[in-house]
Amino acid sequence: MATAINIILFPFLAQGHLIPFLDLAKLLEQHTHQSTSISITLLSTPCNIQNLQSLLPSTSIIHLHSLPFDPVAHGLPPHVENTDSCPTPSHIHNVSVASRSLQPQFEEFVTQQLSSNPHLKLYLISDVFFSWTIPIAKKLSIQHAVLTTCGALGTATFMSMWLHLPHRQTDEEYFRVPGFPESFRLQRNQLSHANRVTDGTDELYKFVSSSIRFSLQSDRMICNTIEELEPLGLQALRAVTGINTICTIGPLVPLQGAKSYERAGKKLGIKHEACLQWLDMHPERSVIYICFGSQSTITAAHMLVLAEGLESSGISFVWVIRPPLGIENYETKEVDEDDEKQQMKKWLPQGFIERITGTQQGLLVWRWAPQLEILTHKATAAFLSHCGWNSTLESLSRGVPLIGWPMAGEQFFNAKMLEEELGVLVEINRGIEHELESREVERVVKEVISGEKGKEMRNRAAICKEIMRNAVAKNEESGKKGSSLRSLDELVNFFMNH
Ligand code: UDP
Repeated sequence: MATAINIILFPFLAQGHLIPFLDLAKLLEQHTHQSTSISITLLSTPCNIQNLQSLLPSTSIIHLHSLPFDPVAHGLPPHVENTDSCPTPSHIHNVSVASRSLQPQFEEFVTQQLSSNPHLKLYLISDVFFSWTIPIAKKLSIQHAVLTTCGALGTATFMSMWLHLPHRQTDEEYFRVPGFPESFRLQRNQLSHANRVTDGTDELYKFVSSSIRFSLQSDRMICNTIEELEPLGLQALRAVTGINTICTIGPLVPLQGAKSYERAGKKLGIKHEACLQWLDMHPERSVIYICFGSQSTITAAHMLVLAEGLESSGISFVWVIRPPLGIENYETKEVDEDDEKQQMKKWLPQGFIERITGTQQGLLVWRWAPQLEILTHKATAAFLSHCGWNSTLESLSRGVPLIGWPMAGEQFFNAKMLEEELGVLVEINRGIEHELESREVERVVKEVISGEKGKEMRNRAAICKEIMRNAVAKNEESGKKGSSLRSLDELVNFFMNH
């Protein structure tokens, strides 16, 4: 009987992880489609699997398998199985801790797979935050790779910060990060709240640092980036992890035929045709798109300032509105959406909605926008973003520069890289603790839309777009493949040859 091969993918329980993993599964499906002996399985919890099911075409051969998971047993509301459906930020921590409880179910699944067919070879690609799978893989002689859904510099800085806590060893405002050149310095306010307050003994520290330490034992690291885009980040990632072979297979983002509703499985706050029609009314490169990813929100005070600054700038914008920080997020409950929209008035300047709605200046989108379509539209000039890595790649792959407002995790490091290395970003604020003035909002958006700085950023973003497209292209005549395609070949060969 011929050997059968199953590649198992196991993403962390968050939208920003599930979607790139699904994109990787689709890439592997395309890459191995001629081989009938290879199958691909994506593992997650029941609600996530149900959602992913609706995103796969019926012709797909990707198997989706759900591991039993009880959110309520971990202090989560029923059906809350990923970080972006959490009603409050503190529940996000519960998801992280609860995800560790999947260990016995995971082990049982792979053991059953192996015992059901002695000719089956399993390969595992797990999320960095599921690197507790590595000892199990090693015990069962399964080849393993970890995937970081972040960029190289973001991952390297994040890992080095949690492994070494360098900010606790100095009082200096700007400090060095182990694994990076002497000239690379972080400022204290570029640390996430969790990183700032950890003393190296708390639960979150234990979860993050053990995930990182386990992931350093993997056979391979896969990074959702492009070799030519992040030379410094990749050099640092090798130094920090000690892993020499980093497979750069990015961008895990559809470059054509953007259909957000087919990608995330979220209910859009606006029909995507209506959104595109609104953008059609605007001149090229004249609109700012504002969105803080799938789970971040700003404070009510910041919402007011942002609204005032945008309105007085006179610049057109599409803004994805969510309840501000501190207001329970009702997404998973049965509530009257109109009631919630009414509440929006409380968080925005008086008369703002009435003045903006139905005009060319602003389009307010409730909760979830067709982001890829907006970024692809020629009217979009810049993206005011929290600098999550998926949003970053989606923006640059469309040649759209960014206005950065990092909120958490590695987003601060992404913003630094985008500003200092790539020159495609100007930072407007950091986190939720700093004040922002509406005059500053007005100044920055005007500069990005019509100033010299904005022009330069757009030119540089266009170069990034080119780099990304080349990385996944194959020259028809010479057959030469771009760097990300070569990396994917190398990864598949690595699995096949073991
Ligand atoms: N997204 C979207 N519409 C929204 C908000 C987010 O389609 O209104 C998608 C976005 O396209 C991206 C993902 O959600 O693919 C957000 O991922 P990112 O890594 O940027 O941020 P995270 O949510 O992980 O903080």
